[in-house]
Amino acid sequence: MKIGIREQDRAFGRAFRRQRIPWLRLGLGIMVGLVGVINLVSSDAVFAKVTDPRTMLRVRVNNYTQASPLIVARAEREAGRILGEAGLRMVWLDCPMEHYGGVHVQQNPCLEPLEATDIVLRVLPERAQNKFQDTVFGFAVVPIFASVYYDYALRSAKRDNDEFEVPVILGCVIAHELGHLLLGSNSHSGSGVMQPQWGRKQVQQALTGGLLFTHAQSKRIQAEAEKRTSVQNTRLDEQRIREVRQRDEPERIPQND
Ligand SMILES: [Zn+2]
Repeated sequence: MKIGIREQDRAFGRAFRRQRIPWLRLGLGIMVGLVGVINLVSSDAVFAKVTDPRTMLRVRVNNYTQASPLIVARAEREAGRILGEAGLRMVWLDCPMEHYGGVHVQQNPCLEPLEATDIVLRVLPERAQNKFQDTVFGFAVVPIFASVYYDYALRSAKRDNDEFEVPVILGCVIAHELGHLLLGSNSHSGSGVMQPQWGRKQVQQALTGGLLFTHAQSKRIQAEAEKRTSVQNTRLDEQRIREVRQRDEPERIPQND
């Protein structure tokens, strides 16, 4: 059953990319949108019931752009598919802005302490002046902070007369920057999603679902995710031991000489 769900996911992605007939786009957009919404509601529930052998990482997503939640959700889905092909299971946590719709957000799960298996992703409007490299798509601060530029995805899609595909390109950009976090610095390559510059060829690869991590990169990504999981498990074990000790420690009775 676990394989069925994973394969179904991949098969859907491929089928979607191949159906690049203009009159089908609107219908597919609605369908993918609905799947995205359903995915937001049900993916965690489905995965909770299934034992997925892939190592899980969680991404806290802060969207500072005009991109709609649906566009961001579809981008997350594409990035999750690419990282899924590399052997990871991604869980996306959409963080509410501090003031949402003029209302102060009281309970924000993204303000809880970061775990070793957490990554923080910012979706920014456009390229910012900063001291970090990789400013074409975004930038990454190892080990946990990544930023991507929504404007890059918009411009790439417009250049290709393919604005419908903005979320797919944004998803590839997210996978690229998360790749930097997991592969370390100087992790560009001559092929796949870690290429430093994307021309029309790479964008077409992105739109057909073929802009992926190489086999060697996938192995390194899996090893890094397993290392982070191990660190997190150790932290949890230590926390449980502390809790047990505190619970079992006899209550001190004041002594009077
Ligand atoms: Zn890069």
